[in-house]
Amino acid sequence: MQPLYHKHSLQVFNSLSRKKEAFNPIKEGYVGLYVCGPTVYSNVHLGNCRTFMSFDTIYRYLLHLGYKVRYVRNITDAGHLENDADTGEDKIAKKAKLEQVEPMEVVQKYTVDFHRTLEHFNLLSPSIEPTATGHIIEQIEIIKEILEKGFAYEVNGSVYFDVQKFNESNDYGKLSGRSIEDMVANTRALQGQSEKKNPQDFALWKKAEPTHIMRWPSPWGDGFPGWHIECTAMSTKYLGEQFDIHGGGMDLKFPHHECEIAQAEASKGKSPVNYWLHANMLTLNGKKMSKSTDNNIYPSELFSGENKLFSRPFSAAVVRFFMLQAHYTSVLDLSEEALDAAEKGYFRLLESFSTLEGLSSKEGIEDDQSIQQWVNRCYEAMNDDFNTPILIAQLFEGVKLINLINDQKKTVSSNDLSLISQTMKAFFFDVLGLFDSRNSDAKQEGTG
Ligand code: AMP
Ligand code: ZN
Repeated sequence: MQPLYHKHSLQVFNSLSRKKEAFNPIKEGYVGLYVCGPTVYSNVHLGNCRTFMSFDTIYRYLLHLGYKVRYVRNITDAGHLENDADTGEDKIAKKAKLEQVEPMEVVQKYTVDFHRTLEHFNLLSPSIEPTATGHIIEQIEIIKEILEKGFAYEVNGSVYFDVQKFNESNDYGKLSGRSIEDMVANTRALQGQSEKKNPQDFALWKKAEPTHIMRWPSPWGDGFPGWHIECTAMSTKYLGEQFDIHGGGMDLKFPHHECEIAQAEASKGKSPVNYWLHANMLTLNGKKMSKSTDNNIYPSELFSGENKLFSRPFSAAVVRFFMLQAHYTSVLDLSEEALDAAEKGYFRLLESFSTLEGLSSKEGIEDDQSIQQWVNRCYEAMNDDFNTPILIAQLFEGVKLINLINDQKKTVSSNDLSLISQTMKAFFFDVLGLFDSRNSDAKQEGTG
């Protein structure tokens, strides 16, 4: 049998071109997918979970279409400073000092929490989950290449990317839509306070001060990598200098992804990624859920019901269903009302699977074209930039069909009955990654 991707033309919204484009992988049948993973200095909140769930659903649909996918999602365990413009302390080192433990104990604790939490939501594991600290040598090698090509400079044991020099031959800002002139205008006030040539330059390698606890030897002395270089090093190592899809949350477009493009173009002379996909934010009370402010809620608080915002618990399956009812590029606000509604819809779908078990077909009747058309509409929804809300609306059409057959208001051939059953199950369980919360207590228990 031919893989399904031969029959379906997938369209994806590419943040780089700001358009929907036909998805054509570099090598037929294979997809290289890189998604920025968490910075493991605290527990993941529901906003983080939404982004990882969005890419899990994308990964699942690519697998469903028959692609062989190499899915790389990293763990940021060094280099991410408090301030995205590379100032302040390393987030992990700061937490280690606060808790009086080794930085790697912080990393271990929150990596375990991350994995457990995603398991509750039934996320598939990536094919490779590399860490920044495991790839210091690769990062140093790319920094050396950028220096050799003349797009970086060394000052006092630190190495900075020369944004203005790069912009003379390339387009810095093309992903985020920012112009370098605006960046210069906005940052002029800071000039003179830093060892950088220009404020918009970013760190590739930072010298470690004597008190800095996370440090590695390098050609420039003891130090640690900048945040952006790890993703360039790991994506290049496991997916090649050019690969198909790079994903992450919308808030990573700038500076993180913009800098990844610059680093790759400066070192390898080519654009690293064909399709940039960005997942939108989960908000609470209309504001972005965030680790650094108190505006967040942890999955375990929702599963246990022990929180200040919701009057009762919600299962991980209901939360996943709620998230998938919005398109991944739309902002989504979390509220009890919305979770109540999602729970009703989820149970309606779940019940239809029990009804399905009891249905019988009729012999001697023709296949009904409208059922094949309904199947096609399910695929069309996902082919249109992974439109899960439209897919879910189609699954409710499937529920109506199942109820009509059950009420003997419609008769179907055995072919059609198995088509309905296969389609409902494939999309609900395999593609959307939903599960029966009544049979999977493990998935509902709170995380640590
Ligand atoms: P971090 O651990 O802060 O690097 O974030 C991990 C991932 O979660 C990144 O892809 C972020 O873009 C994403 N993220 C952070 N906050 C939210 C939010 N409120 N909604 C959705 N995704 C988020
Ligand atoms: Zn990244």
